[in-house]
Amino acid sequence: MTTYATLNPRQRLLMGPGPSTVPDRILRAIGSPTLGHLDPQYIQYMDETCQMMRDVFVTKNQLTFPVSGTGMAGMEAILVNLIEPGDEVIVCINGVFGGRMKDNMQRCGATVHVVEVPWGQTFTDEAIAEAVSKHPKATMLGIVHAETSTGALQPIQGISKIVHDAGMLLAVDAVTSLGGHELKVDDWNIDAIYSGTQKCLSCPPGLSPVSFSPAAIEKMEARKTPSQSWYLDVSMLKNYYTGGGASSGARAYHHTAPINMVYALREALQIVLEEGLEKRIARHRTVHLDLRKGLEELGLTYIPENSLSTLNCVATPEGINEAAIRTRLLNEYDIEIGGGLGVFAGKAWRIGLMGYGATHRNVVTLLSALKECMS
Ligand code: PLP
Repeated sequence: MTTYATLNPRQRLLMGPGPSTVPDRILRAIGSPTLGHLDPQYIQYMDETCQMMRDVFVTKNQLTFPVSGTGMAGMEAILVNLIEPGDEVIVCINGVFGGRMKDNMQRCGATVHVVEVPWGQTFTDEAIAEAVSKHPKATMLGIVHAETSTGALQPIQGISKIVHDAGMLLAVDAVTSLGGHELKVDDWNIDAIYSGTQKCLSCPPGLSPVSFSPAAIEKMEARKTPSQSWYLDVSMLKNYYTGGGASSGARAYHHTAPINMVYALREALQIVLEEGLEKRIARHRTVHLDLRKGLEELGLTYIPENSLSTLNCVATPEGINEAAIRTRLLNEYDIEIGGGLGVFAGKAWRIGLMGYGATHRNVVTLLSALKECMS
């Protein structure tokens, strides 16, 4: 019989594009006793988790819950419920994740109109206004708030007004912004939003916080065909997460919720709220500026328009083996950073400053290790 070594993962400093380092407090929460998914004590924890999610998304949306699955499951949950075959939709692509939205929209049977700017850039209100007026029959526009493949932070408010003036819904990817950047779902009039646990919430990967506005619910309730995904069908999921509406309170089994991951998310959200959203966002910004200064002192340059605090995308110097440096950082210093994706593959490093990991101490640790590896 094959014998296997005892599980003993190394303590790495996760400073890549995610997952980020998980604090012990959250790991301890995961290790709490597993309850049944209909146990009243668990339902209470789940309800509290959904309420804390509303607080962090800054929304009153009743339909706010954690999709069982990673950020991609959240993306799919939004698209398979809000798109019916034959719908026209618009998607904005300036990196990997807008491209994935397009792929998913097509799989939902939509006719997809693409607005594109070069990787690393963001969309102007004018570009969105032009796309919206060109495709007036579109029912929805999808856009990424924080493009993890490039470091671009997309302003949302101007776009939201244009999209709603045209009678469309706005769907937003907030995987790398929730808990690290300003994000106000109600004020910004976002109809459907998804995130992930493993970035600025510093949880392990496994859940995707999502939220749907009343207008999004109306669109889902008017569907002529059921969503092609059974697992992600919000019309059934809502009976478990919200008790089928504010009044009924009864919870219908749909799938066995990942109980211990919900504990982790609850703990993570509690940590965010204890710190305070504004303070947390300011911390990410301060630490990003620290890192930016240090990287520039090492002679590295940011990809133009890198406006995210949470993801720092820098061009790798000509003539160096960027992958070898990442391997040295991992093997000799137990530090993980990411390589470039797509058009930046082999040409960039992606350094995450997310949640618990966004500290001055981590910046200093990384900069000194990177300096050694580059010399
Ligand atoms: N959207 C963005 C902006 C991301 O950065 C990621 C993951 O890095 C995803 C979606 C997909 O999330 P996951 O890998 O958790 O499925």
